[in-house]
Amino acid sequence: MKYIFGPVFSRRLGLSLGVDLVPHKVCSMDCLYCEVGPTTEKTLERAEYVPLSGVISELKEYLSYKPEIDYVTFSGYGEPTLFSRLGELVDFLKDNYPYRLALLTNSSLLKRDDVLKDVKRIDLVLPSLDAGSEEVFRKVNRPVPGLSLKDVVEGIGRLISETSCQVWIETLFVKGINDSPEEVERIGNLIHTLKPHKWQLNTVSRPPAYGVKGLSYEELEEISRRVGYPSTEIISKGVASRKKVPISQVKEEVYDIVVRRPCPIDELCDALGVLREEVEEAVKELIKEGKVKELYFGGEPYVKGISG
Ligand code: SF4
Repeated sequence: MKYIFGPVFSRRLGLSLGVDLVPHKVCSMDCLYCEVGPTTEKTLERAEYVPLSGVISELKEYLSYKPEIDYVTFSGYGEPTLFSRLGELVDFLKDNYPYRLALLTNSSLLKRDDVLKDVKRIDLVLPSLDAGSEEVFRKVNRPVPGLSLKDVVEGIGRLISETSCQVWIETLFVKGINDSPEEVERIGNLIHTLKPHKWQLNTVSRPPAYGVKGLSYEELEEISRRVGYPSTEIISKGVASRKKVPISQVKEEVYDIVVRRPCPIDELCDALGVLREEVEEAVKELIKEGKVKELYFGGEPYVKGISG
């Protein structure tokens, strides 16, 4: 499969089938923290970067097995709203399948009428907002010339007021870049004004495109407390406290995933954002308790849950 990947498990979306609508790495930004790597084509131009017919035929084939997934998610190698035939793809999925749709976006094109029209049938949109000032926006997101924070904020505002999408804004905090008390206050003011259904705090937890560092869980908690937005969720365990996750919690989370779908250890580490040793310890205990077993597929070890 060229355009779809997974399904992968994430805390936010459960089991989601990813759809890639732009090639590596076409994006309107070049974020310091990007997990995909440095942007090679920085653009605001919408185009059919991948053939819609190819994406649809892969989806038809995969979805014909009626997989039990929580979302079909537009995400992947760059900014999905740059794909000019997004609206047609959304209509195809909505008209033919019962699956909920999700979109991860950097919010750069949301203020455009054509983009807003394309996304309005998507159930859950997760737009990014990483700065409260133009200066920090340029530092953290390194946008294409001509793109401003004002555009991003206007786009998210239109998304919230003009569509019925569920909107969860994500702010990713980078140590020493967008975490000063002044910037946090500015970001907080924007969040209180925009009023998303949820505000999600994240930080650098996987190798970033440029050598930046993340915040600890305690620092994220402090930001959440200071901003005081009623519907806030911290979705990263933070860098300093990754070792402090209690084993009972890791066990519970591992079991929730593998009882639905066998998973390799590496994927479990990624999905849960915890260290490999912790996952291995949890799996060992779960095997002893008879709740999971190990099996091999294609030469690779998987963990499978035993239900009931
Ligand atoms: S917007 Fe997303 S894909 Fe683009 S550079 Fe930033 S993190 Fe990477």
